[in-house]
Amino acid sequence: MKALYEACEDKNKADLSIGEYKDGEGKSMVLNVVREVETDISERDDLTKDYLPIAGDREFCHYAEKLVFGSKCKALNENRICSVQSIGGTGGVRLAAELIKKCAPKKIIYIPDPTWVNHKSIFTRCSLEIREYGYFKNGFDFLHLIKDLKAAEEGSFILLHACAHNPTGTDPMPDEWKQIFDILQEKNITPVFDSAYLGFATGNYQKDALAIREAVSRGIPCLVAQSFSKNLGLYSDRVGCLSVVCDSEKEAENVFSQLKAIIRPMYSNPPTHGSLIAGTIFANPFLIRKWKSEMKGMSKRIKDMRQLLYRELHRKKTKRSWDQVIQQIGMFSYLDLEKEHIEKLRNEYHIFMSPSGRASISGVNYGNINYIVKSIHTVLRR
Ligand code: PMP
Repeated sequence: MKALYEACEDKNKADLSIGEYKDGEGKSMVLNVVREVETDISERDDLTKDYLPIAGDREFCHYAEKLVFGSKCKALNENRICSVQSIGGTGGVRLAAELIKKCAPKKIIYIPDPTWVNHKSIFTRCSLEIREYGYFKNGFDFLHLIKDLKAAEEGSFILLHACAHNPTGTDPMPDEWKQIFDILQEKNITPVFDSAYLGFATGNYQKDALAIREAVSRGIPCLVAQSFSKNLGLYSDRVGCLSVVCDSEKEAENVFSQLKAIIRPMYSNPPTHGSLIAGTIFANPFLIRKWKSEMKGMSKRIKDMRQLLYRELHRKKTKRSWDQVIQQIGMFSYLDLEKEHIEKLRNEYHIFMSPSGRASISGVNYGNINYIVKSIHTVLRR
């Protein structure tokens, strides 16, 4: 889709397919705190290009654990969590899948319908048996989800989006998470949290990690794949962290060895640049404050654009309710459009979104809102 957008020469073209944050002028940006740290790094003469250990930068992993689980987390303080640096969030999910393939007695994973397209490819590559659970049908389908979980196989795994579900932008409420975890505990099903949008969804890392923290505080073993692509804007630096919450310190040590045995023949060790930037920020309360304020700014701009899109579609009395635009959270909104509308928007109006109707709200700005709304309105009226 990105290539189609770039090749398009229409001056009104709008890219709502992107998974990268764009600023109010539709441009990619580097966070100020990242620029600042990169400048400091470039002036340091103690840094080398030596290899990182197989499991990556230990300090970075330690801070990443503290961020997601909180420094008071019992499992963390009992050394029951092991973590490795991963190649972005994708790499973390892949390592989780490889670990299941290598070590789990039951190689079955439940994934939401719909989900991020890469999940199926990753789990297929690792020869896991994929089963789907109901998630979204004209809105969050909690009853379907619960029904499917109750029928799920004991001792299996389940992929959960920690927050800002991609592509639907729809998450369970806190009480619904509790009901989900009740069933997982009952059936000994292990969650794999894909956490690509922590901090980016509400602007608050702790709040976005609510589901993960609830599971861990209940003593549920789980796997957590964090990505720092979106929330730090480090897309091309490929930095993430996979943590495995175990029942004992001994088990965490064993899992850590297994992960290193998986990584070594795959890519030997991860790259340094992204983890050095992220680790430097996480180690310094002043830089963390700066980062959090910028993260909040990105999250707020997306929320503002949701309100604007909703208001303008209503002002034009465009068919359908559009409530989902302001109800959904995170980067994406699942627009209530049919295939023919999505194709017309792309082919005739040069508005690009994924074929499922997933629109990246970060691609909306004051410069293109009128054109986007006018185009959607016209396509739905015809
Ligand atoms: N999981 C989900 C749900 C995502 O949306 C994405 C990014 N599109 C990823 C994982 C991958 O993140 P990364 O770019 O850090 O590999």
